[in-house]
Amino acid sequence: MSTSTLAERVLSPNELDRLLRAPKRAIALRNAAIVALYGSHVRPGAQRHLRVEHAVALCAGEQLELGPSGSDRTVLLGARARAALRAYLEHGRPLLAKTERPELLLSPGGRPLKACYMGRAVQRAFERAGIPYAGHVRGLLSRTLAELDPVSPRPSSRRVPAAPAAPAVPVVPPRESEKREQKRATMKAFIAAVKKAARGCKDCGAHAAESFSELTFDHLPGHEKRFNLASAAQRSLEAVKAEIKKCELVCVPCHRAREKARGR
Ligand SMILES: [Zn+2]
Repeated sequence: MSTSTLAERVLSPNELDRLLRAPKRAIALRNAAIVALYGSHVRPGAQRHLRVEHAVALCAGEQLELGPSGSDRTVLLGARARAALRAYLEHGRPLLAKTERPELLLSPGGRPLKACYMGRAVQRAFERAGIPYAGHVRGLLSRTLAELDPVSPRPSSRRVPAAPAAPAVPVVPPRESEKREQKRATMKAFIAAVKKAARGCKDCGAHAAESFSELTFDHLPGHEKRFNLASAAQRSLEAVKAEIKKCELVCVPCHRAREKARGR
C-alpha cells in the first residue's frame, strides 16, 4: 500500500462500528471512548484532563472548549462517538471508579489514566475490533469520523421549553423519548458525580460515599431558586450547573433543621 493510499484511507462503517461499540466490559468500553475522543481531535494530553461533567456535556450534544485558554479547540461529537462515550460513562466507568473522583478516564485500579497509556488503549481497541493497527491512527480516525459520524446540530429536544407537568399520556415518537431517556441518564450520572464529589453532608458530614444519593441540594438564602434539582433532567446542563452553584449538599435531617431555622 503506498503512502498516499494510507493517508487517504478511511475505515468502513462496519469497522467503525466494531471499534466504537464495545462489549460491556469496563476497559473495552473505556478504550472505545478514548477512540471516539481521539478521532474527535481530543489528544491524549487533553483527554487526561477531561472530567465526568465534560463527558456529560459532550453526550448531551454540547460543544466543549479545550485548552487552558478555552480557545485551543472546540470539540463536538457525532452520534456514534457520543454513544461510545455514553456507554463508558454508564456501564464502564462505574466499574473502574473505586473512589469518588472527577476524572473521566480511569485505570483498572481506579486512578486517572496517564496520557502515555492512551495510545495503548487505542491499539487495544483496534485489536479487539480485528482491525490491523499500524500506529499513528489519529488521521485515520478523524477522517473516518468526519465521514461516517458527522457532528450534527444540538438535538431538538434541548430546545423544548420545560413543560409545566408531564402529560398524563405522553404522546412522543419513540426517537424523541429515546433521546429524553438518554438525557435523563446522563444528567443522573452528572448529579451522582456532583454528590459523590461532595463527600458527605455539609453540616454533619454524614452520608459520605456509600449513600451519597441521600444528600439533598439545599438552596442557600439570597439566591433565587429557579427550579428543584430533582427535576434536573428537564433542564440544560448549563442551567443545572448554575442552580447547583446556589446550593449546598446536606443530608435530609440537616436540611430539615436548616428549613426550620429559616422559619419554614
Ligand atoms: Zn447532615
